[in-house]
Amino acid sequence: MSNGLRLVLLGKQGAGKGTQAVLVAEHCGIPHLSTGEVFRAQAGLGTAFGLEAKRYMDGGDLVPDDIVIGVIEECLAPGGMLADGFVLDGFPRTLRQAEELDRVLGRRSLDAAVLIDVPHAVVQNRLAGRRVCRGCQRVYHVDLPPERPWICDTCGGDVVQRDDDTDEAIGRRLEIYERDTAPIIEMYRLSGRLLTVDGVGSSEEIFGRIVAAIEAATGVSC
Ligand code: AMP
Repeated sequence: MSNGLRLVLLGKQGAGKGTQAVLVAEHCGIPHLSTGEVFRAQAGLGTAFGLEAKRYMDGGDLVPDDIVIGVIEECLAPGGMLADGFVLDGFPRTLRQAEELDRVLGRRSLDAAVLIDVPHAVVQNRLAGRRVCRGCQRVYHVDLPPERPWICDTCGGDVVQRDDDTDEAIGRRLEIYERDTAPIIEMYRLSGRLLTVDGVGSSEEIFGRIVAAIEAATGVSC
């Protein structure tokens, strides 16, 4: 039974939002949604929507707000997959997206925005060496590969480098993060919803910090 928590995970690309979103969702019994995964899946299927998004993603640019907000709004609508609680990964990424999220949620506001705080040099290294399973999205690093070369230990899928994990696109995404996404942190801080956790350590350690912060702030034990 879902406890209805409404959470977003914030942090630079490579901070570990994707990994933690899966763990938090499972632990708290809520669905998680990664807008980046939605776009990659649609691009893989070759839909017009996905191919349009891919044009922005491959260059490291943000997909326009109207497109992204449309996706989230549909999922949050009554009966939608996020209607009874959620953890969002990769959304919001601009002030406008954050404001629209508050508008759509209305009085049933967000419970917490969790910032996974990681220094720039660490995320640059993580992104450059990151490899991702095409099947289940499990994340590896060149220094910690799957047992059989580039076959996923979990699902047997191909483990590949993302099209937007090139040096050029990584630099561009981190620049855009500072310009467009970092101001959201201030917005959540001012409205008392920001929880900051240290994002350096093993994924188990970081997960423990996130759950402790959420439970302390919301009083919900999940
Ligand atoms: P991610 O998997 O979260 O790193 O997202 C991969 C790419 O998808 C980003 O670099 C953007 O091009 C696009 N994207 C994902 N989420 C958003 C969003 N909320 N707003 C705009 N673009 C997004």
